[in-house]
Amino acid sequence: MLVFCSDAHRAHNPVQPHLFGGEHLPPKEVPERVERILNALKEMDSTQVRGPETLDSEILSSVHSLDYLGFLEHAHARWCDQTGGDISDEAMPFVRPAVGQPFGHPTSVLAQLGRYSNDSDPILSGTWQAALEAAACAASAARSVLEGESHMAYALTRPPGHHAGPDFFGGYCYLNNTAIAAELSVRQGARVVTLDVDTHAGNGTQAIFWSRKDVMCVSIHGDPNTEYPFFQGYSNEIGGGEGLGYNHNLPLPTGSDWDSYSRRLEEACQLVTNFGPDLIVVALGVDTAIEDGVLGLKGDDFRLLGTRLAKLGKPTVLVQEGGYDLTVLGKNVAATIEGFEQSA
Ligand SMILES: [Zn+2]
Repeated sequence: MLVFCSDAHRAHNPVQPHLFGGEHLPPKEVPERVERILNALKEMDSTQVRGPETLDSEILSSVHSLDYLGFLEHAHARWCDQTGGDISDEAMPFVRPAVGQPFGHPTSVLAQLGRYSNDSDPILSGTWQAALEAAACAASAARSVLEGESHMAYALTRPPGHHAGPDFFGGYCYLNNTAIAAELSVRQGARVVTLDVDTHAGNGTQAIFWSRKDVMCVSIHGDPNTEYPFFQGYSNEIGGGEGLGYNHNLPLPTGSDWDSYSRRLEEACQLVTNFGPDLIVVALGVDTAIEDGVLGLKGDDFRLLGTRLAKLGKPTVLVQEGGYDLTVLGKNVAATIEGFEQSA
């Protein structure tokens, strides 16, 4: 099994407490996540780890707006200039326009941090390079599958991507790795589904492909009425314009176990089959684990998940999204991939 991974993720190492639910909590999206996953995968005989090829800038700019990309690349340096902050400091958004009100476009990076985000994630000096390399890993995994080198490839992407939209970051995500793998595949002539099994709705991916019918987006996740990202992920969000009917959200009540989850998964698989994709990009969050506190998947459920994904019978790119409990993260990713490989 081909694994695409880059060491650049280590430069994105936030240490400031993260504001969640009114509490300041230690950052959960940390470099150790990659080490845990890699260690678990290296116990599998079939694992081959590769670095990514350079990402085509045209793919990047067809997923994200040029003004957002320019902001993300230079935000930290500009923030240091404007605030006197040190290169090791973390630039945090703290103010954003009110919903529904007309707003201006200030040149201050302090304002732009809020303009281009919907959450409280920091930008560090290494964030751009880390995000760019993660996106390149997803693109390289897609390319290897499209070229027929492998039926399935796995991109060990960090930071994750599925909450990043055309011009916003949030939910630990800066560039949408899953969308970049899908866009590259469309440009090679493939009909593509993104199947998001992370415990949180793939709101960024949904926003990117909202008006398109060449990529169908399906997401199974905890009910956004009570779970992040709260404002998107509802079943009545079905796409718009040409994309009407090509976006599917399948929410589940908090705490749902494999019995409930697997029924949603069957619905999702039926949608995928009906669409008839040439290639599937799976946004593989394993924060559906009971230890991560939203849904209730346990140990062997991840093997069953991998088995069901393989039974779709399509070339598949797995892109790492969430999964934060370090005690189970590695084994749950490995179990999903083993389940897939043994059934493919
Ligand atoms: Zn998640």
